[in-house]
Amino acid sequence: MSHASDIVNTKGHWAVGIEWPVIGSRGDNYTVTMTDYGFDCDCIAYRKCKHIKSVEERFDDPSQGRDT
Ligand SMILES: [Zn+2]
Repeated sequence: MSHASDIVNTKGHWAVGIEWPVIGSRGDNYTVTMTDYGFDCDCIAYRKCKHIKSVEERFDDPSQGRDT
């Protein structure tokens, strides 16, 4: 399921459908995907996990260059 983002308005966002590979703290690989409704992660956490937050943070920093 998707977790709504407080940082990004994901509805119709240019990055919807993009998948980000995220390395977990134990070296596990997860995939975070943006959807119209927020962010998805394929780990077992049912709440918004740190993998999603790590991707969200990239959208919170103007210096990261938002592709428009
Ligand atoms: Zn996760």
